[in-house]
Order: sequence, then C-alpha cells, then structure tokens
Amino acid sequence: MPVVSLAKIAASPAAAAGDFTVRVPCIYGKRLVSNRVFFGNSRRGSSVSHRVRNELQSPRVLGSVTDLSSDHSVENGHLPKGDSWAVHKFGGTCVGNSERIKDVADVVVNDASSRKLVVVSAMAKVTDMMYDLIHRAQSRDDSYLSALDAVLEKHRATALELLDGDELASFSARLHNDINNLKAMLRAIYIAGHATESFSDFVVGHGELWSAQMLAAVVRKSGLDCTWMDARDVLVVVPNSSNQVDPDFAESEKRLGKWFSQNSSAKVIIATGFIASTPENIPTTLKRDGSDFSAAIIGALFRSHQLTIWTDVDGVYSADPRKVSDAVILKTLSYQEAWEMSYFGANVLHPRTIIPVMKYDIPIVIRNIFNLSAPGTMICRQIEDEDGYKLDAPVKGFATIDNLALVNVEGTGMAGVPGTASAIFSAVKEVGANVIMISQASSEHSVCFAVPEKEVKAVSEALNSRFRQALAGGRLSQIEIIPNCSILAAVGQKMASTPGVSATFFNALAKANINIRAIAQGCSEFNITVVVKREDCIRALRAVHSRFYLSRTTLAMGIIGPGLIGGTLLDQIRDQAAVLKEEFKIDLRVIGITGSSKMLLSESGIDLSRWRELMKEEGESANIEKFTQYVKGNHFIPNSVMVDCTAEADIASCYYDWLLRGIHVVTPNKKANSGPLDQYLKVRDLQRKSYTHYFYEATVGAGLPIISTLRGLLETGDKILRIEGIFSGTLSYLFNNFVGARSFSDVVAEAKRAGFTEPDPRDDLSGTDVARKVTILARESGLKLDLDSLPVQSLVPKPLQACASAEEFMQKLPQFDEELSKQRQEAEAAGEVLRYVGVVDAVAKKGTVELKRYKKDHPFAQLSGADNIIAFTTKRYKEQPLIVRGPGAGAQVTAGGIFSDILRLAFYLGAPS
Ligand code: ADP
Ligand code: ASP
Ligand code: MG
Repeated sequence: MPVVSLAKIAASPAAAAGDFTVRVPCIYGKRLVSNRVFFGNSRRGSSVSHRVRNELQSPRVLGSVTDLSSDHSVENGHLPKGDSWAVHKFGGTCVGNSERIKDVADVVVNDASSRKLVVVSAMAKVTDMMYDLIHRAQSRDDSYLSALDAVLEKHRATALELLDGDELASFSARLHNDINNLKAMLRAIYIAGHATESFSDFVVGHGELWSAQMLAAVVRKSGLDCTWMDARDVLVVVPNSSNQVDPDFAESEKRLGKWFSQNSSAKVIIATGFIASTPENIPTTLKRDGSDFSAAIIGALFRSHQLTIWTDVDGVYSADPRKVSDAVILKTLSYQEAWEMSYFGANVLHPRTIIPVMKYDIPIVIRNIFNLSAPGTMICRQIEDEDGYKLDAPVKGFATIDNLALVNVEGTGMAGVPGTASAIFSAVKEVGANVIMISQASSEHSVCFAVPEKEVKAVSEALNSRFRQALAGGRLSQIEIIPNCSILAAVGQKMASTPGVSATFFNALAKANINIRAIAQGCSEFNITVVVKREDCIRALRAVHSRFYLSRTTLAMGIIGPGLIGGTLLDQIRDQAAVLKEEFKIDLRVIGITGSSKMLLSESGIDLSRWRELMKEEGESANIEKFTQYVKGNHFIPNSVMVDCTAEADIASCYYDWLLRGIHVVTPNKKANSGPLDQYLKVRDLQRKSYTHYFYEATVGAGLPIISTLRGLLETGDKILRIEGIFSGTLSYLFNNFVGARSFSDVVAEAKRAGFTEPDPRDDLSGTDVARKVTILARESGLKLDLDSLPVQSLVPKPLQACASAEEFMQKLPQFDEELSKQRQEAEAAGEVLRYVGVVDAVAKKGTVELKRYKKDHPFAQLSGADNIIAFTTKRYKEQPLIVRGPGAGAQVTAGGIFSDILRLAFYLGAPS
C-alpha cells in the first residue's frame, strides 16, 4: 500500500484552472497582514482612521494580495464598480417553480443595496432536459420533439402563473420563437446524427435565458426598474486544454462597459448564469453547475461588496448533508477551505467560484432561499486573533468524490530516474484525463494517482503503450488499475499548524476498519486526502466526521437472543441511553434484534421502550445472514457490533465471519472460547490482526471483572501461576448451604425451587459449565487446552446420568446422598469444607474441575449465597492471591457485564473516557 504522500495535483486554488502540473500555492497562499477587517458590508475601510481603528480592533484578516485601487466605487467609462453593488446568484432549485420565482423576486426587491445584479440558473432540471434533447436528437430518436414540448410547456405554464399583460405576451413570443429555433436546430442534429459542442452549448443555455427573463419581469411587477442581461453579450471565455473555459476579464469588462452604456439606468439587472461567448462570439457555457462561476466573474468585474449564493441548504455543511445526517453548518470558511471542499466534491459551490472573488477580497455568503432566518456560511479571508492565532477548528469539513480508479505504476527502475513522473503524466495528459490526486512512495518505487473511472481505460492504454519497453525490460513491474475507488478529503486551514490532526483522522478510519489504498496531503496542508474502496466511502466519511465534529461514538448494534439475559440487556440500554449520549457522547443504536424465529430491524434504531411489542407486531422471519448484512450494511453508522446473548454453538461459529467483515463482537456465550481449539485460535488471531474487537467478559463470572483482571495482569508483564475459583453460582450455593444435618439432595431441591439451578440440575452438577470457564481462562492465560482433555469430576451419580427427566433425577437423587455426606463429615472433622472448584494450573499447563477441601479460614470457605470467587496466584501476587469475589450469576449482573463490554468497545472506538 503506497502510503507516503508527495503532492496533490492542483494543491492550491491557484492551480484550479490549470492542467495537472503540480503547482506550489503562491499568489494566494502568501501570508500578508491586512489592515482591513470584514464586518458585514464595511469590508472595505478606505479611510486612514478606519484602517487604524481596525488595526487596533483585530482580529486581523489575512490572505490575498488585494487590489486597493478597487476599494471604492470607480467609474470605468460607463461601468460603475464597487461597494454599491450586491451580486446574488440563485440556483436551479431557487427558481424551480412560479412560487419560488416569486420568493426570489422578494429577496431581490428587499436587498437595500443601491445596485443589484442577480445571476440566475435555469429552472431546476431544465438543463438536464436540454442535454437530454440533444442526446435524443443525435441518437436519431424522434421523441426529442415531445421532450421539447415538455420544455415549452414547463416554461409556458410558469409564465402564465407569474405574468400577465404585455409582459406575458412578450415573454411568450420570445419563448415560442426560441422553441422554433431549437426545433430547427435539433432537426439538424437529428439529421447529422451528431451535435457539435457549440450546437449543444447553444441549445442547453436556453434554460437560463428563460428563467432570467421571467424573473426580471416579476421583479418589474413590484415597481423596480429591472433589466435582464444575456450574459453571452458580456462574458467572454476562452476554452483551455483541460476541457474547461477561462474567463477573459479584460474583454468581458470592455463588453460590460458597452452593455452599460446602452442600459445606463439599470439598477437591478437579472443576468443569465452558465452561458457566455467565445472571443469569436460563439455561444458557449461555463460547463455544468457553472452559474456559480458566472456570478463570481460578474462579482469581480463589478468589485461588488458581496456575492450571495442562494441555494436549497442553510450553508456549507461540514459534510454532504445527504450522506451525513449529523453534518453541521459552518459559520465561516476561508477561501482556500471553500475551494478545497468544492474541489473534493461539495457541490454546494462550484470550485472555480473562489478565484475571481478572492482576488478582490469579496466575501461569498451561501444562503438558503427556503430558510431566510439562517445566516448561512461566510466565505472570506481567514480570520486571526491578535496573536496571529487562526480561529476556528483545525478540520472544517469533509467531502468525497466517487467513481474513481487508482492507477499504480510500480517498478524498481523508477528510483532515481529523472523524468519518470513527467513521462507518466504527459501520457495521461495526452488522453485528456483529469488527475484528481497523486501519491508517490518516497522510495520512488511507485507512483499512484486517481482518475475518473470513465477515463481509466484510456489512461491504462496510454501508459502501457508509453512504457512498453520499460515493462518488457522489467524496469517497470506493473501498471495496476484499481477500480471502484472513492476519495475522502478532510479540509481545514488550521490542519497545517495543528499536530496530531492526521493521526486522529487515520485513527478514526482504522477504528471503523476502513482500508486505505492511497494517501496524499497537499503541501498547502489544507487537505488530507485518502483513497478508499467505494463501498467503504460513506462509512469512512461518517467515521471521520463523527470523530472530529460530534466527538460522539455511534454504535450500530445487533442483539441476538432477546431471552432473559438479552432482554435484560435491552432494558438496561433503554434506561441508560440518554445519559450515555449526553454525558459520555456514546450513541448506542440497536438496529436489529433477532431471536430464533423472528427478527426486528430498524435502520434508525429500534424504540427500546417497545421492543417486545414491536418484535411481536413487526418482526419478520429470522435469518442470521440477512441480519448480519443489515447490521453491517447500514450506511449511517460507521461501527457495528453483534451482541450474542445466546448459548448456541451455531451463533458462536459466526464470529470469525463477523470479525472478518469488520463487525465487532461482544458476548456472554461461552461456546466460542471453549469450543474447538483451532477455531478459537483462528478467531483470536484474526481479531488481533484486524482492528475489530471481541469482548467476552460475561463468559466467566457474569459481570465480575475476571477476564479484564487477567488481561491486565498479563499485559503488564505479570506471570500467571494458578487460577482457582468457584465459578458456578449454583454450585457455590449448594456447598455454602450443605451444612449441619442437611442432605445434599435436600439442598439441590431447595435451590431448584428457588430458581438457582438450570431446569435440569444435572446441567449444573455435571461440571461442564465450570469446565468451559476453566478452558476459557486457561486459553486466556496462553495454555492450549481443549475442553475434552480436561478432567471433570461430575456430581451426577453415574446411575442417574441416564434418567429421562429432571423429575426422575430429583426423585432418585436422595439415594446417593450418603457418599457426599460422608465426604463432608470427614472434611468437617479436619476443620475443612467442601467446595466445587475449577483450577487452571499454568505451571503444569493443565486444568481440572473437582470437589476439593479447604480450611475453614480459607477465603473459599467464607462464601455465602451464590457468590463466585476467583483467586489469581501470580509472580506478583504470590504470597496472597489476588481475589475477585461477588455474585457471578443472574440476569441483571450478566447483562451488566455485557453492557460494560459494549461501553468498553465504544471507548476503544474513540468515545471520551
Ligand atoms: P444549486 O442548484 O442551488 O446550485 P446544488 O445542487 O448545485 O444547488 O448545490 C446544493 C446541494 O449541494 C445541496 O442541496 C447539498 O445536497 C449538496 N451538498 C454537497 N455537499 C455539501 C456541503 N458540504 N454543504 C452543503 N451542501 C452540500
Ligand atoms: N443550469 C446549469 C446546470 O445545471 C448551470 C447551473 O445551474 O449552475 O449545470
Ligand atoms: Mg450549484
């Protein structure tokens, strides 16, 4: 895995427009102390006193070199520029129907700025419809005609709802005229079976022409003097080699001046987004989503005091709100941060929007047309306090790009050979592919880069042909294509000066069990980029987002076996969930519960106050594979855990597969750890190698800290000599009460009545349960013991092993009382008691389960009730063993033990402890 980053293409906004040569951020990356502060519209303090005041007032704003000459309104010929101008841009959803167009008009009318320019997109979906017309026509599909009718109808109906009188008549005339022209044009495309780029650009730009004219007419209705502007008369752009266009500011400014000389009274202008002209006056576009860019160019031409981009969300979120439901609105972003976010897929802003306005220090505000009370996100120069300390969090946001492929060019012959990288990327450039990120191992053995999936075939062919000789001669070992990748980028200007940010980032990914294919950190350090498998991308995004933003650890849980213990656990989680969320930032969501016949699933989390009813009413047929897929496959929560509350070997045999799939496992089920040795070793081995966790404290002594105590001893270097204990609550009870004149069968009968035994007491008396616990502890101490090889003294008299029922067994048990009574009396005569114990003898490397005698002052003789007691004799605890004692059975304490393992998992996964 190539993990050492070298550079990222287009590492700075300055390189955004260019091809894929690596550029060092220069013009805009320079730190300059500015004496101006931006507070609302007073960004451009021009008087000396204002500057001095601002200097005293800090925070300072720093960033770009600023054109001071544009500080105040200047008249350039007929073109008025400066702070009097407000530029707004309304996206497609803002003008999606007539009601919304009216809302937009209200916003325009209510802006108190003396001059307003509004850039408008086509109505929502219209640009897609226009591209579709071309597609149909050039595929010689007649349906382009009916599709064109739909376009006409959409605009005709909207105009009818908005306009009347002359305005309606003149818009309708224009619309029909345009549609007729389009029909002719599409017919030509249909006949040719092909559309040239300028033909399609001409066609697709009509959406903006219509929306701008309608909006202008609606604004006029409120009495404002409003003119619409066909941006093709003003904006001049030059196609570049990256299949993009670059604005020609000088020519555009000239044309804007000319436009003004003809529309000198215009105070409110509604301009078309997206469309422009080439220097030869051929209609063209700024490419998909280009209206933001249009608005930025126009804002820069006017040196407006602000550019407000209106859309359908409250601002820029810390991550795409469609992918991360917990994303938060960012109050401010620096230009660089906004650029990085948009470049890496936050489509709320077109990446090229930044450069033109940044040059003149014009702030961009992203606002929601549907929620005017939200202040939105301000994008401006980075704000620092008096000490030069950058305010704000180190990581601002996360974004992703899907549908990428990684290309890995590898070989020993690359090291130290100048020009290899250049040869690789010139081959890539020749096929016009867009390189999104690069990473090179510092050993120079491999160069790896990401390109859009659709371009990878051409890239691979170009590289194979360019390096045919090197491959044949073994200087290059391979050109590997890794499809189905996604990029995840963390963005934040303060990352550079904050150590440990990348460690936290990678830690969050590791804990979510995400495999990273490549890494790059731009030299600007505004960004850390990783390439992951596409199917992991959303999980990865959520994992890092919650790590930085919510500092909340969310666990998706699948509970298997909602019987006595599982049910008690669910109730405990229900009662504690709110406290965990509030105080410990742990969000436990049970998204599935399965019994042996029914299961209940809920992506957002099952309502635990009603889980029993819901299970009955809404449960579906249980299916463990489907259940597993559901728990793992949920895309909202990065970490998943299965909690097996059954005693089934079948379920235990799933752990390996779960861990392999990155699902953590918590269980009180003894079957896995005391089952076949090879299976146990396989599970532990996998779990140690991976970042998945497997906790099973409740397998021994219920909630008592036995496994964790043992681990603590081992991990700190102590040496276990012997573990000896009373591991069965039932057998503890039996022998604690087997005193005086009582017979053993009498005590068993009493315990059975009180519910302290299994329904068939032979399950306790056989010693198998204790033997399982001894096996678990022995293995935990490093012994390779098998359950079958353990000598177990059964307390079930041989002749009673075959009894058909528990009743028959209980009835016959008194016949065998004599033997145990004799043993007890002998012990008593020697000042001792009988205790049924399990022993791990780590020195002799063996385990036993047997009835033993202990002196009356031994801790094991002092027990009462059904308590467990476990003594660890170790190198450190040699004279006096370390003793753990307490109730070791019962639903509440067992569920409590499982619960504490779940919380341990949450802490391991990053919850604050
Ligand atoms: P418009 O048509 O107004 O230009 P877009 O669809 O281009 O709107 O952009 C707005 C959309 O961008 C939002 O609806 C949101 O779903 C999406 N988006 C993606 N990433 C982010 C982010 N980090 N913050 C805000 N919105 C985002
Ligand atoms: N209408 C164009 C598009 O959908 C431009 C834009 O809305 O930004 O791509
Ligand atoms: Mg957009």
